[in-house]
Amino acid sequence: MDCLFCSIISGEIPSTKVYEDDEILAFKDINPLASVHVLIIPKKHISGINEITSENAEIVAKIFTKIPEITRILSVNESGYRVVSNCGKDGCQSVNHLHFHILGGEKLSEKMC
Ligand code: 5GP
Ligand code: ZN
Repeated sequence: MDCLFCSIISGEIPSTKVYEDDEILAFKDINPLASVHVLIIPKKHISGINEITSENAEIVAKIFTKIPEITRILSVNESGYRVVSNCGKDGCQSVNHLHFHILGGEKLSEKMC
């Protein structure tokens, strides 16, 4: 399967990792939209939010359970941050591998979009 984030997980495409374990990877976004911009992804390929099911939802819980630790590593846990996941065409999802953006390190726009 030709998937950019699967290639990042395999190491075929390099990335700046900030957290990794057996099931998830967090790495810096190549085109940061805030002074801290990290993507958290499951290592198992899931195309996006529409593909979350009761069978694979555990990994989503795992990602959210790790967000406090990852944001501590990024030093934004106290100052605050935003978690975003784009889905589909109108959501402007550009990579079809489920990912959660962590944005912070500065005061973000009060507008969500
Ligand atoms: P989406 O637009 O699907 O919500 O988010 C995809 C994100 O992946 C974008 O913010 C984009 O900058 C990031 N991205 C695209 N290609 C690469 C890459 O090769 N390496 C890294 N680290 N991020 C990438
Ligand atoms: Zn993938």
